[in-house]
Amino acid sequence: MYYEGKVYRPWIEANSLLIQTTLGCTHNKCTFCDMFREKRFRIRKIEEIFKDIDEARQIYPHVRSIFLIDGNVLALKTVFLLKILGKITSTFPECSKIALYAGFNDLRRKSVEDLKELKREGLTLAYTGLESGDPVTLERIKKGLTPEQAEKGMAKAKAAGIDILVSIIFGIGGKERSREHIVETTRLLNILKPEQIAPMALAVQSGTELAKQVEAGEFIQATPLQILEEEKYLLKNLVGFETIYWGDHGNNIVSSRGNLPESRELFLGKIDHAIANHPVTKQEVLVTSPW
Ligand code: SF4
Repeated sequence: MYYEGKVYRPWIEANSLLIQTTLGCTHNKCTFCDMFREKRFRIRKIEEIFKDIDEARQIYPHVRSIFLIDGNVLALKTVFLLKILGKITSTFPECSKIALYAGFNDLRRKSVEDLKELKREGLTLAYTGLESGDPVTLERIKKGLTPEQAEKGMAKAKAAGIDILVSIIFGIGGKERSREHIVETTRLLNILKPEQIAPMALAVQSGTELAKQVEAGEFIQATPLQILEEEKYLLKNLVGFETIYWGDHGNNIVSSRGNLPESRELFLGKIDHAIANHPVTKQEVLVTSPW
C-alpha cells in the first residue's frame, strides 16, 4: 500500500481502509488549514490506485468501509472516479460504505446524473467542510465558498441520494464574530439538512495564515466559554430534520455523539453542566491538539 506525505482522514473513519486517490487539495487556501500545504494537487495514476486496491485485498479478508483520500477527491472527472469505484466494489463485494472528501463546489459542479452514477457505483457518503455559514467568516478564512454555493451543492447531493456529512468549526469566527458565526451556521444547516454534522473546536495550527493573524493580534480567538455557547446555540436551534451529531472530536470541550433531535436535551444538559462547572471556562484560550 502506498501513501505519500501526511495522511488525513476524519476521526469517524478510523476503522476504514484508506485508498490514496489524489494528492493534496485543489483549493489549498483556507487560512486555518495546514493539511496539504506541502503537496500540489495531483491525481494518482489509475494503475497505481488499482495496485493498492489489489494489495489491500491480499492483506484484509473483510473490508466494511473504505475512505478515499487525500483532499477533495470528488474534484476528479466522473469517468475516472467511476472506474475507481467499480474496481473497489468488484474487489471488495462485502464493502457497504465508500466515502470521500468533497467540497460543496465539487458537488455543485457535477450534474445530478453524474452524482447518481457515482452513487450507483458505490459512493455512499461525502465529507464536506462548511466551517461556517457566515459569509463574512467564510471570506475571512478564504474558504472559496458562499452559503448560496453550499445550498446548490447540497441540493444536487440530495437529488442524487448521496449522504453528506458537514463539518463546522466552533470558534472560527473569532471572539468578535462568535455570535454571527454560529447564528448563520445554524441557519444554513437548517436549510441544508445534512444527514450528518461534525462540529469541532478550532485548533490554530502553527505555520498557517491564521496562526500569523493570531500572532499579529488580527484574529482574537474565541474563549472556551464562547465555544460552549456556540455549541449550545447550535444544539438548541437545529430544527426540522434528523441528523447524526458527531460532537466527539478530540478538541471539543464536551464530547457528544448521537442522533438529533432525540439526544438534544441530553447534549444540552452536558453543555450547561460544562458552562457552570468546567475549569476551562476560566481560560481565555482553549488548548487544542493539531488536526
Ligand atoms: S480546509 Fe479543506 S478546502 Fe480548505 S485548504 Fe484544507 S483541505 Fe483544502
